[in-house]
Amino acid sequence: MAPHLVQPGWRFWRQAACTLGASVQHRTWAGASRIPRLGSPWGATATSPRVYRSGFSTAPRAPEVMLTRERYPVRRLPFSVVSGEDLAAFERIVPGRVITDPEVLEASNVDWLRTVRGSSVLLLRPRTTEEVSHILRHCHERNLAVNPQGGNTGMVGGSVPVFDEVILSTALMNQVISFHDMSGTLVCQAGCVLEDLSRHVEERGFVMPLDLGAKGSCHIGGNVATNAGGLRFLRYGSLHGTVLGLEAVLADGTVLNCLSTLRKDNTGYDLKQLFIGSEGTLGVITAVSILCPPKPRAVSVAFLGCPGFSEVLQTFSTCKGLLGEILSAYEFMDAECMWLVTRHLRLTSPVQESPFYVLIETSGSRAGHDAEKLNDFLEQVLSSGLVTDGTVATDHMKVKALWALRERISEALSRDGYVYKYDLSLPTERLYDLVTDLRARLGPRAKHVVGYGHLGDGNLHLNVTSEAFSPSVLGALEPYVYEWTAEQQGSVSAEHGLGFKKRGVLGYSKPPEALHLMQQLKALLDPKGILNPYKTLPAQA
Ligand SMILES: Cc1cc2nc3c(=O)[nH]c(=O)nc-3n(C[C@H](O)[C@H](O)[C@H](O)COP(=O)(O)OP(=O)(O)OC[C@H]3O[C@@H](n4cnc5c(N)ncnc54)[C@H](O)[C@@H]3O)c2cc1C
Repeated sequence: MAPHLVQPGWRFWRQAACTLGASVQHRTWAGASRIPRLGSPWGATATSPRVYRSGFSTAPRAPEVMLTRERYPVRRLPFSVVSGEDLAAFERIVPGRVITDPEVLEASNVDWLRTVRGSSVLLLRPRTTEEVSHILRHCHERNLAVNPQGGNTGMVGGSVPVFDEVILSTALMNQVISFHDMSGTLVCQAGCVLEDLSRHVEERGFVMPLDLGAKGSCHIGGNVATNAGGLRFLRYGSLHGTVLGLEAVLADGTVLNCLSTLRKDNTGYDLKQLFIGSEGTLGVITAVSILCPPKPRAVSVAFLGCPGFSEVLQTFSTCKGLLGEILSAYEFMDAECMWLVTRHLRLTSPVQESPFYVLIETSGSRAGHDAEKLNDFLEQVLSSGLVTDGTVATDHMKVKALWALRERISEALSRDGYVYKYDLSLPTERLYDLVTDLRARLGPRAKHVVGYGHLGDGNLHLNVTSEAFSPSVLGALEPYVYEWTAEQQGSVSAEHGLGFKKRGVLGYSKPPEALHLMQQLKALLDPKGILNPYKTLPAQA
């Protein structure tokens, strides 16, 4: 018998294999899973005011966030400043929803990561497309800059103002317009919270085609504006495929109604694609039509320990071959990630300590058939030594608890200190080399250098923490990380977008001709540049 078979992990695995769905009972669980409404990682108020602010009793006091204009070399463009007449005009457009209270504004001025901070004095909360149109028409005439904001969970500083841009929140645009239960087409306003939509369609036998750790707070409009990837990308693909139509309001207030529900429509240019991933720089998305797949009848999650990254990759190949169409997610995290979630969030690892962990989800229509396939796969990876320990869950709550280990890494990192975040697309076989390289390069200057992510999509989340923001750590990371990525023909932003923090690095992943065309499109749709200035596109000389 191979040596690993006598390890405790094997015994644990054997129990799991025999009692699929019950195995997680063998370990102590922290019980925490998805955050119903995301608070900031510090339990402070760095989310939009609509969201529930959870308090973490163990969290230290949130450090003050430096103003973006002080931390970064950025100059305010010559936009107008909000006047008393502007406030009166907005009060006529959205009566009672013109917010100037500094305490409420503080939450909308600071991003979820607490790394950037604007100084807006005005937050507007429209309910309808017409109201958004009137607001933008006024801002356009008055040359007032506007920052569209959804759930404020963005990772790249795109969701909050850089200076005093007017914050236009979609929080009250939260109505489902229709759901077609034959086709699974959902039409809704942009401010619907992803988790609420999930619940809505699940009650009708469908699922949202995307899922992410921020689901309790992020809005569908924000998801579309960032072209969010997330945990179901491997199965259902990009929003460029699942979004059937959208409605957007242009900078001058024009309403562009492309809210089609058709699967096929080849009439002219597909304009909706321009807005997917445009991060609020081309228009404000006010409604979305999205195709929801049928809800899988059987979902299982396996959480496995691997002895090395090469085994993580081989396990992925094996799993694609043996699980085939039922494979719906393949995520990985390294040992430092596990340390962070157990240390900062008090979650418990369900498997013995390993250098790497993978989370595999299967979703299918027949539990027996899926379990058989999963068991075959698990037997194979275990007997070949690719996996040293593992557990499997089918019960909904246990599935959620396993997912929490992966989904809450971001939150754990934010409690560790200042976080330098990189979201890269790389060839899978080189994906972890960058993490190893950086550990050597940064040495003791970094508290942690961790790698995790959507391995099935070739997407690495590389995160580095230090006690506080340090220009020297940043200097060691950039442009090194971007050059490394460009050498591999990778992307410097796989799914988070560019926002404010990454706008200067677009050139590492796109040729000058593409950049030029993007600038021209921006000028065409927003000639005064009032929509999310300082975001996505590099500053022009
Ligand atoms: C714990 C956690 C896990 C995450 N996991 C993932 C993940 O797996 N995959 C992933 O891709 N992202 C992930 N994210 C990042 C983030 O949740 C996504 O980018 C999300 O799509 C942002 O949605 P939001 O409503 O919060 O948008 P915001 O953060 O409010 O805004 C993001 C950008 O979109 C613009 N915008 C927002 N709404 C509109 C609108 N209606 N019209 C035009 N522009 C708009 C904003 O101006 C900004 O530029 C995660 C974040 C957290 C905190």
